[in-house]
Amino acid sequence: MQLDVPTLAVVTVFVTALLGGLLLFAGMHNRAGRAPMLWGVSFLLGAFGMALVVMRGQIPDWLSIQVANAVVLLGMALVWAGTRMFEGRTVRPGLVLAMPLAWIACSLIPSFATDVNLRTVVASAMLSLLSCLAAWEIWAGRAEPLLSRWPTIITLLSYGAALLARIPATILVPQLHGSQQLIMGAMFPVVAFGTLMFTVILAFLLLNMSKERTELQHKTASLIDPLSGVSNRRAFLDGAERLLRQQRLRYEPLALILFDLDHFKSINDRLGHAAGDDVLKVFAREAAFSLGPDVLFGRIGGEEFAALLSVTDIGEAIAIGDRVRRNFAAVAAGHCAGVVVPTVSVGVALGGEPDQPIAGLMAAADRALYRAKANGRNRVDICPLETLDASAESTLVPVQREQREWRGKAAVG
Ligand code: GH3
Ligand code: MG
Ligand code: MG
Repeated sequence: MQLDVPTLAVVTVFVTALLGGLLLFAGMHNRAGRAPMLWGVSFLLGAFGMALVVMRGQIPDWLSIQVANAVVLLGMALVWAGTRMFEGRTVRPGLVLAMPLAWIACSLIPSFATDVNLRTVVASAMLSLLSCLAAWEIWAGRAEPLLSRWPTIITLLSYGAALLARIPATILVPQLHGSQQLIMGAMFPVVAFGTLMFTVILAFLLLNMSKERTELQHKTASLIDPLSGVSNRRAFLDGAERLLRQQRLRYEPLALILFDLDHFKSINDRLGHAAGDDVLKVFAREAAFSLGPDVLFGRIGGEEFAALLSVTDIGEAIAIGDRVRRNFAAVAAGHCAGVVVPTVSVGVALGGEPDQPIAGLMAAADRALYRAKANGRNRVDICPLETLDASAESTLVPVQREQREWRGKAAVG
């Protein structure tokens, strides 16, 4: 198949410029960050640089060679800068300009400026390095789960590898000197076609990455409580339903632990709402730390929190609830300057029955919490047996029977 090189080159220029405009537009309307704007500018610069290359022979050589390559290098440097911005790292203008300026400096050396093969080797090496640096930045941000991250890394690395492969190819099959040589050389159709593919795929992936980030931020915002930074009620209940479904297959008891800060209204009244907010944050942090990273934990109401976790028996659940209570009491005292000592009451309920709805477990833990409040606060209690749903002795499941055994000796505090 014969590719018409000038047509291909012109198409590449226009498509790159179009994609640049698209990225610029997306960046202006993107709340998740301005990186797409930088990518848009980089594509527009790339298109301009390529247009100058395409005009070889019709414009002075210094413009279509020296300036054109410097502009293309600046465009690629801005792709790299955009990935740094996307990942929240600082963009240093000096580093962005390093390669284009190095290119211009080299171009001032006559032996370099007139050697088409040397120019190809140096430009390819510089572009390859910038492409690999951009891939590195995206890889470094991999903790953020964006699906497009991986194909973007592969695309940038592939482009970098293709450019590197151009170096031995240029050395093994050197081109003849001449003003039209680069455009008409044997490698140019491959380079132009590859560049066109790279441009289209990269723009699509970069746009998709920022779209995915916006979606992820919306999803996170809808599931995280902004004050305490832990799961909100909706996320907690969704997670709890999921855990209860999984538990049916594992036959492990699940404990629901409810926490309610004591006399919180009076903390607000005496120290102010901001200090109350501070106490909520301290509790969320301490409880999440005491429970560990794998435990489902969330803020389910104003000063109410809940945790759902696998335990071996109710004794373990009570011990965990009490550990949170003690740790919070120890840390919170320092946050209220001794005026009041924030404490928490804890209610524990154990779920073990198949198909048990989360609402039933919540109600049982709530009764336990009520009991802890009635018994003086700053303590852990379990649900009183007489209020458990299964009233007949014969229908008590092992978990409830165990809960009954703990009755009387369960109150800790
Ligand atoms: P108890 O020991 O019986 O639980 O008493 P309490 O004062 O903690 O309970 P009550 O339900 O009477 O008051 C809860 C208070 O929590 C009332 C409300 O103003 C406060 N509150 C709810 N959400 C927030 C919040 O986001 N920030 C602050 N600072 N206060 C909140
Ligand atoms: Mg409450
Ligand atoms: Mg309270």
